[in-house]
Order: sequence, then C-alpha cells, then structure tokens
Amino acid sequence: MLSPELTTFIQRIPKTELHCHLEGAIQPKTLLELAARHGIALPFSDEEGARKFYEFTSLNQFLEIFALACSTLRTAADFETITADLAADAHRQGIPYREVFFTYAYHQRRSIPWEEVVGGIAAGRKIAREKFGVEMWFIADIDRTISPQDGIRTVEMANASRDAAGIIGIGLDSQEIGYPARRHKPAYDLAKQLGLRRVAHAGEDVGPGSVWDALMALDIERVDHGVRSIDDPELVKLLVERQTPLTVCPLSNVELKVYPSIAAHPVKRLLDAGVLVMLNSDDPPMFHCDVLDNYYAVADTYQLDADAITQLARNSFKATFQSETEKASSLQRFDTEAARLKAEIFH
Ligand SMILES: [Zn+2]
Repeated sequence: MLSPELTTFIQRIPKTELHCHLEGAIQPKTLLELAARHGIALPFSDEEGARKFYEFTSLNQFLEIFALACSTLRTAADFETITADLAADAHRQGIPYREVFFTYAYHQRRSIPWEEVVGGIAAGRKIAREKFGVEMWFIADIDRTISPQDGIRTVEMANASRDAAGIIGIGLDSQEIGYPARRHKPAYDLAKQLGLRRVAHAGEDVGPGSVWDALMALDIERVDHGVRSIDDPELVKLLVERQTPLTVCPLSNVELKVYPSIAAHPVKRLLDAGVLVMLNSDDPPMFHCDVLDNYYAVADTYQLDADAITQLARNSFKATFQSETEKASSLQRFDTEAARLKAEIFH
C-alpha cells in the first residue's frame, strides 16, 4: 500500500506524458456524446455500459473497441473535443506538457479528410493552452501496415501542417509482427531531412530485434515501449550510452499480456541499468488507467520512495522534444517544484 504522503506527491509532482494515442483516449462519456452528435448506434447507452464494453478479453476485441471509438470521429469539431478532453485530463494529473500520437490511416480508411483531423487538433490545442495551461504537441504515427509510399505521404502531410497543428514529429504504430520498421525507412529519411523528430513503437509484441531495427534503419530518437530490450544486454548498453528514452506503459503491457504482472515487468530492471525510462498510459480508458495509476502501480510494486518518483518524473521532462533551451528551463522549474513539494509533503 502506498502511503497517503507518497500518493499526494505522485499526484502533485509535475510530469509529462509522451506516449498516449488521441484515438485511444476517448473517455466513455465523450464517446456517447460523439455518437449522439452523428446519430451512430452504440452497443451501450450509458457510461456504465461503455465501461463494461471496454473490458476486452482479447486483442481482437480490443481492436474492435478501438475501431468503434474511431467511427465516432468525423469532423474537425470531434477532433477538437477529444483534444480538449486530453488537456483537461492532463491538467487533472499534474501534466503541463503532453506529446500525443494520432494515426491518420485510421481516418483515411473512413475517407475523413486530413484537414478535418489537423483542423480539430489545432483548435483543441488552443483550448489546451488557454483554458488549462497545458502545452500539447502531436506526433503523426504511420500505421506499420500501410505501404512505404503511404508512409512518405504521411510525412509530407505532417510537414505541411506542422506549424498549424503543432506536429513535432512522426512515429510508427500498429501491428509489429510481420511489418518490420525498416519498410518505412524512406519516410523516416524524409522526416529527418525535414527536421521532424522521430520515434517508433517497438519491442512490445516483438523482442529486441525490433528495437534494433527501428534504431538502426529509422534512426529514431526515442523508443515507444521498447521494454523487451531487456532481453539483449548489448541493446541495453546502447540505450544507456545514448540515453535514448523509452516511453514505457507498464499497465498497458500487463493488460495486453506482454507481461503477466508489474512485478514481472522489466521497468525497474531497465531503470536500475541506467536506461532513461519514463511512465505513460498509452490508451487510458481502454486500459482502465491513467498516468497516475502507472506511477502508483510501479511505486507500490517496487516500494519506490520520493526520490525514485522524482527521478521518474524528471526523466519525463528529459525525454521531451522541447528545444535544448526550453528543456533546460523546464528541468530547472521541475527541480525547484519537486524540492518544494518534498519539503511540504514529507516535512
Ligand atoms: Zn502506444
């Protein structure tokens, strides 16, 4: 059991989140609202029913829920609603800075124009800043299963909208098995040339080879998940040397059965080895957890103290794509606030 002091410390210490999917973060209440907006019939009629529906038991069922949530996103106003929701949620959890993935392939398949998506994101981002004081940036994810040509197209569209919608970089998600990262090398080469930041989901469903593939072929700067790197000491050594951040989502990994429990999860071993690990929620309502829950679970399982929590939260600022100057001032503010909170809460 976490002490009330440590729980309060986790709630109040500033942290960033860098691994959360816009489409996977639609809360049941918003899903009902969006469905009503478009007259879409859902297999449930209230929040309680939605929560039950979100209790998936297989990956296929998870994908079905995800597709249903996506089907309610049609216009810029919808994307604005879910972006603003994420800002309110960040504010509640003590997250002043969030980098969020969106995957256009899910919307392109439903013939939703790119402009609707990024237009909504731009409007939601403004609300985030003005109403909640939350800074949000976006990462355009390439669905691994699309063609390399469509991957390039995603980078081109992301680049054209980078200023308008706060798109800071590109990522890679979806089915890892059978779709190696290197298929999208041309897209990543272009992104690098254009000065877009580069991340990729790897080392979740496939072992360390997938992380090597993303690091070497795509020259990524941060790994999303990357937890199975633990199975290769040479890879761990490289991640430590380069201080390549891993955006780790422990509760998501347990829900999707990558690991049977937090106790069996390598998060602590990676930290102990010196890897720059930070904690995230992935798809919060689908995994029934937020960022705070991930901190609680890891802190409780490994009996972390306030200094270890401070390290994790500090890592979350070190791992952002802020400019070096912005990052230095963010870290300075973080250190002051963390020390002040520690003195206030633990006396
Ligand atoms: Zn993810």
